Amino acid sequence: MSRTYSDKGIVFKQVNIGEADNIVSILTKYHGRVDAVAKGVRKLTSRKSGSIELANLSSFAFAKGRNLDIITEAKTINDYKSLKTSLRTNFYIFFICEVLDNIIKTEDRQKEIFSLTSGLLEMLSTNINLILLCTFILKLMHLSGFDPNLTACLQCGKQLSEDEKKYASSFDLGLLCSREKNQRNKITNKQIKSLRYLRSCSLEDSLKLRVTDNEKTDLYITLLSWLEIIFGKEMKSGKYILKYKE
Ligand SMILES: [Zn+2]
Repeated sequence: MSRTYSDKGIVFKQVNIGEADNIVSILTKYHGRVDAVAKGVRKLTSRKSGSIELANLSSFAFAKGRNLDIITEAKTINDYKSLKTSLRTNFYIFFICEVLDNIIKTEDRQKEIFSLTSGLLEMLSTNINLILLCTFILKLMHLSGFDPNLTACLQCGKQLSEDEKKYASSFDLGLLCSREKNQRNKITNKQIKSLRYLRSCSLEDSLKLRVTDNEKTDLYITLLSWLEIIFGKEMKSGKYILKYKE
């Protein structure tokens, strides 16, 4: 087996180790999640440091290591600079990186998640829009095997009709009918239709969805709560996004 390999990837995590080294987590196109050591990157003279910034798309060369692989070369392809200029856009970056860190645990080939994420960063650089993030979350849930059930009640299995009250479950991925007790998160027919549309459309087409800012926020809050169920923890970066709305 070759001792070296190359790939392009999106950086989603950095952890300092030792005096000047970092462990960098990268969503690569062909090798899934790679956690590799970048040596000397915190020295001022390091040429690699720019290429391993969070949410950068870079091309990498890796050498196989005994435990972790080593980044031997890194060159920036796109640093999505416009996303790193304001607090609001930085929270988008932090959130996307946190989601990736929690959902991508293996070296399984994650080519679709790579394409989805690079497409999202590309589109957000010219249009910071919460609906793009909603679409990303839904598609990521789908690609990772966490599709929410948007047609039947999670408790009793009944198909949900248009003319009954429905709720977003706060302990599972999907919806509940009005017969289930203690439900708080009412969800409208329009919201359910929007979720179904966003799950199947492209990132580009998600921008065609006609929703008000409040409706966007409600969709996002529902999706965020489902992500928190999957991850079993609070997503603070996801909540900060709402403090700095469009
Ligand atoms: Zn039910």
